[in-house]
Amino acid sequence: MGLYVAPDGNYGDSEDIVIVNNEGFDEHFYNYLEYATDWLRPLYAKWFEQNDHDFEQSEDLPWACSVCEEYLEEERNN
Ligand SMILES: [Zn+2]
Repeated sequence: MGLYVAPDGNYGDSEDIVIVNNEGFDEHFYNYLEYATDWLRPLYAKWFEQNDHDFEQSEDLPWACSVCEEYLEEERNN
């Protein structure tokens, strides 16, 4: 168990917390982060940091990316 306390006032359980370098993260990352369920967010952020991919237009939403869609779909079903 652990606790994280951030200077913006947020605090909470630090278990499974991830810190990523978001340099170069674009709009589609933040949209998916928002859209992912809580437990999936840290996994997704870490994956995105380590997975260098260009935005690949998918059906549905204008910001939908087929690479991210596939990853999130897989994780959800795990
Ligand atoms: Zn993507």
